[in-house]
Amino acid sequence: MNIKTIRLKKGKEESLLRRHPWVFSGAIASLPEGLEEGETVKVETSSGDTIGVGHFQIGSIAVRMLGFGSAALPEDFYGMRLRNAFRIRQTLGLIRPDNTCYRLIHGEGDFIPGLIVDIYGDTAVMQAHSPGIHFARHQIAAALTELPEAGIRNVYYKSETTLPYKAHLDPENEYLAGNYDGNIAIENGLQFNIDWMRGQKTGFFVDQRENRMLLQHYAKGRDVLNMFCYTGGFSVYAMRGGANRVDSVDSSAKAAALTDANIELNFPGDGRHHTYATDAFRFLSEMEKDSYDLIILDPPAFAKHRNALKNGLLGYRKLNSRAFDKIRSGGILFTFSCSQVVTKEMFRLAVFSAAAQSGRNVRILHQLTQPADHPIDISHPEGEYLKGLVLYVE
Ligand code: SAH
Repeated sequence: MNIKTIRLKKGKEESLLRRHPWVFSGAIASLPEGLEEGETVKVETSSGDTIGVGHFQIGSIAVRMLGFGSAALPEDFYGMRLRNAFRIRQTLGLIRPDNTCYRLIHGEGDFIPGLIVDIYGDTAVMQAHSPGIHFARHQIAAALTELPEAGIRNVYYKSETTLPYKAHLDPENEYLAGNYDGNIAIENGLQFNIDWMRGQKTGFFVDQRENRMLLQHYAKGRDVLNMFCYTGGFSVYAMRGGANRVDSVDSSAKAAALTDANIELNFPGDGRHHTYATDAFRFLSEMEKDSYDLIILDPPAFAKHRNALKNGLLGYRKLNSRAFDKIRSGGILFTFSCSQVVTKEMFRLAVFSAAAQSGRNVRILHQLTQPADHPIDISHPEGEYLKGLVLYVE
């Protein structure tokens, strides 16, 4: 196939030569005639040296690089990348009878920018974030079902809300292979109903797996409040850890119902747990002081874009300050931010401001991040998005 070439402006190749996978539109000297959104292109320096190959799209990130150092992709590109990613998950010890869910492809971190794949048992849920991946979806779905040892039978494509709407691709959420066939996945021996068709993102937040394990460790005998519970992941682990009582809060009634179902699945008839479908800020304001000695704050991204950064940071400060005001002495706070534009330092500063405002002694016990099945390409620091602090509050 004849692939078109994008030539960069002089001096604009530097970050790419260090293998940063994005070409910004401002770095491009001129676009070849007839280039269409989603096309695979060759990228070269101003003097005509090949840098690599990527997917073109209209926008500030104009090319997402798929490979460096050659002028074309190998025939079996997706199969090769998937096998490599799967081998790493095997190395991580994530594929076990008592753990059937994990992230198989984490975009840039697995050298397929624009693609997310989460595995739930024999189902892969696939999200495209770029037109190039959208056009390759059938090829990727086939490669997923052919992946040796992974046992993937169903591939659900879920990109209605993740593709740039200006590209007018009108993707449909649909099965590209297999069909709906059971929906219970196991994480560290706990069972979860996963509703990839109606749920948020791919249906479950696999990125909190290790942080939930840590929470379980602290839960014994504690009164636990799990804010922004979604499917109740932290709550189920707290129950297993021997919590005295667990309250889960989410503003979405659907999420509250999912949490109830997951608690019932693992701890049928256990009276220690209650769910509240209400706004987190309101719940924190109205609750009695000293009601809880283990609180989890895992809100949705408060800053989805750089221009929302200031308000986002204010949101984190406000949320955390309510928790500091109310948590029992000797309490433990698990607090998170999944906003990619909020750095570790910014988040820590927002939480510090909240702690200072409350006048309490606060110590950092753990600094948390995303697990190893959400790897970060060392050339692409933007891939680090999940930040968490575990705090001891006196
Ligand atoms: N902690 C969860 C993931 C949280 S996702 C896990 O481990 O899986 C964020 C959740 O916050 C969503 O379920 C969303 O419905 C909920 N949410 C968003 N705004 C909220 C608000 N103001 N009050 C309470 N819940 C909210």
